[in-house]
Amino acid sequence: MVSHEIHKSEEDWRQKLTPEQYRITRQKGTEPAFTGKYYNSKEKGIYTCACCGNPLFSSESKYDSGSGWPSFWQPMNEVDIATETDSNYGMVRTEIMCQHCGAHLGHVFEDGPEPTGLRYCVNSASLDFQGKEIDGGV
Ligand code: FE
Repeated sequence: MVSHEIHKSEEDWRQKLTPEQYRITRQKGTEPAFTGKYYNSKEKGIYTCACCGNPLFSSESKYDSGSGWPSFWQPMNEVDIATETDSNYGMVRTEIMCQHCGAHLGHVFEDGPEPTGLRYCVNSASLDFQGKEIDGGV
């Protein structure tokens, strides 16, 4: 269940987001594989919700799944991710959403790496990125 602490009208979201971000996050769309801006990124930092800015995933949990979408083996905080069964397109999948604003993020699958065995498969368009400066090379 999504708590929907953040309420905005559809018109507010349309104004805040690009048309692609709106289609994906508010209408449960999907970006084509290997087209998003983050699927191949190895930069260190934090991925936040493109809609509400909630920190969702760290680069420390990002890995190359080969799927063409940014993939993480765990969220920063599980309480920030809402899940729901998605039976569309003849598949049963687990949809993931931002707990705070209900943004569609992608899906979570049970074919990820250890230690969780999970793959949080997220649309780049659902994310913003905040790079982290590296402290003196430590
Ligand atoms: Fe959000």
